[in-house]
Amino acid sequence: MKVIAIGRNYSEHAKELGNLVPEKTVFFMKPETAILKDNKPFYYPNFTKDLHYETEIVFQICKVGKNIEKQFANRYYDKIGIGIDFTARDLQRESKEKGLPWEHAKSFDNSAVISQLVDKEEFTDVNAVNFSMTLNGNTMQIGNTKDMINSIDEIIAFVSEYVTLKIGDLIYTGTPKGVGAVKIGDKIEAFIENKKMLECEIK
Ligand code: MG
Repeated sequence: MKVIAIGRNYSEHAKELGNLVPEKTVFFMKPETAILKDNKPFYYPNFTKDLHYETEIVFQICKVGKNIEKQFANRYYDKIGIGIDFTARDLQRESKEKGLPWEHAKSFDNSAVISQLVDKEEFTDVNAVNFSMTLNGNTMQIGNTKDMINSIDEIIAFVSEYVTLKIGDLIYTGTPKGVGAVKIGDKIEAFIENKKMLECEIK
């Protein structure tokens, strides 16, 4: 399986990093080795001094698909969770300044934290899901999937033009504003509709 992640999908977050809201969907990928699940701790890597959390709603693919039309995209995912797209912001900034790819800032081991997944049927509307994240008990990010620039169906249609989606693939849908740094000893908790779905200690 693979992780597909969308960049700059909330305009307020694009602005906070000094980025323009993109005309075209921005996506990147993380390998299977990036997955961190079951509320396991995250060990702060040596290669960064500015590790950021990005809290994102995640959809899981349930059907193989290529060139999926937007109107049929909802048949291709069946589960929803919440995840952290850990980002080595210093490495990303350095690469962006040089116009180089920022793969190493995003795809490192354990950089895709994922919660338990629940059936999408549990939600009346996947395009209006509230979610939030706390750091050491303080709320840092609040989002709603209705504010995504590209909806999940639009993401599936766009990405599947380039990449075949396979069963079990995870799509991270981008982060709302409020990203920030973590340090060793911190504890992240993430919620969907006030239900705690995930916790992750930084060690
Ligand atoms: Mg992200």
